[in-house]
Amino acid sequence: MVKETKFYDLLEVPPNASEADLKKAYRKKALRLHPDKGGDPELFKEVTHAYEILSDPEKREMYDMRGEAGLSEGGMGGMDPQDLFSQLFGGGGFGGGGGFFGGGGGSRSQGPRKTKDLVHRVHVSLEDLYKGKTTKLALTRNVICSKCKGKGGKEGAVRTCHSCNGRGIKVSMRQMGPMIQQIQSACDECSGAGEIINAKDRCTHCKGKKVLPEKKFLEVHIDKGMKGGQTVHFRGESDQSPTAEPGDVVIVIEEKPHDRFKRQENDLIIEVELDLLTALAGGQFAIKHLDDRALIVHLEPGEVIKHGDLKVIHGQGMPSQRHHEPGDLYVKLDVKFPESIDLEAIPLLERALPPRKPLQTFDKNVILEEVNLDNTDTRARGGIADDRMDEDTDEPRVQCANQ
Ligand SMILES: [Zn+2]
Ligand SMILES: [Zn+2]
Repeated sequence: MVKETKFYDLLEVPPNASEADLKKAYRKKALRLHPDKGGDPELFKEVTHAYEILSDPEKREMYDMRGEAGLSEGGMGGMDPQDLFSQLFGGGGFGGGGGFFGGGGGSRSQGPRKTKDLVHRVHVSLEDLYKGKTTKLALTRNVICSKCKGKGGKEGAVRTCHSCNGRGIKVSMRQMGPMIQQIQSACDECSGAGEIINAKDRCTHCKGKKVLPEKKFLEVHIDKGMKGGQTVHFRGESDQSPTAEPGDVVIVIEEKPHDRFKRQENDLIIEVELDLLTALAGGQFAIKHLDDRALIVHLEPGEVIKHGDLKVIHGQGMPSQRHHEPGDLYVKLDVKFPESIDLEAIPLLERALPPRKPLQTFDKNVILEEVNLDNTDTRARGGIADDRMDEDTDEPRVQCANQ
């Protein structure tokens, strides 16, 4: 019995959730709520805090016993949500640079500084997620200039800017009424670079920039059974820099909507249209699968399929990513009625089908009135707008060379 469930509710898990469940739930929510992906920063912080508590067995026990109030007594410092996110996903998180959550003033002190992660979303068809695929991506990233080895010029040509002591910024004070304001601005001597290279000594290859853009191809292995939101990391493949470790290239898998199949975890759902005769008297229908097979389904005569019936074909869903155990294929049967029927066939139907339900009878004082049944105008209901999302264009430096 837990005292309160707020943190579990934030992660949308029951209070008896396992550690793996919690991690899974947090991953899912964090990917969706990450501020770099347009999520709500406050909610992301809250969800991250909830996970921070619940993922620590001691803190979780305390929370279960005494609720949120029990935690604050211990006086524990909050963790930078960005850091927790990075730990889970490896690498610097989306957008890399710290300070997004600013205001706390806590500096990020974990390992050497890294360049920004390069995040790219790949839109993958359900067919490719079913069969697995290797796709090539071309990306342009900065690499250290091979001629000057990242120095920007000849040996000894690079001097620290004395005006700013190599910091690249200048701080000045300004009186604003009763307040003194500190203003930071880029150093005008070195244009914020912190160092000065004489024009004639500048590396001709990189023009003193120390790095040059280079195109690189990456092979992304889409494993069978991968799901939307999963990531593939290429460690250290982001921009190189003379002063920082290269960040990662992070590929985010996005599942393209399929025109016939819907996916629910490892199960597939398909709607199949069935003619009335097959529904009533048996027959067969085919389902083209996501690979090169078609499933032939027999319906035994004598069993009646009703409109909207949901059946299952075991073992024909998506493969699970780890062991490739398949999920199930659910088949929703939509019985297609004929538009009209030959009058001569009606006696045959009367013989085959259960008799008509007799007309309901009413008290004598109820007035019986005969009316017409007209077709309604379905067009008046209006269409449903197509609101599918367009290809993500946040990171134009990566192009899909072969998808
Ligand atoms: Zn150079
Ligand atoms: Zn300077």
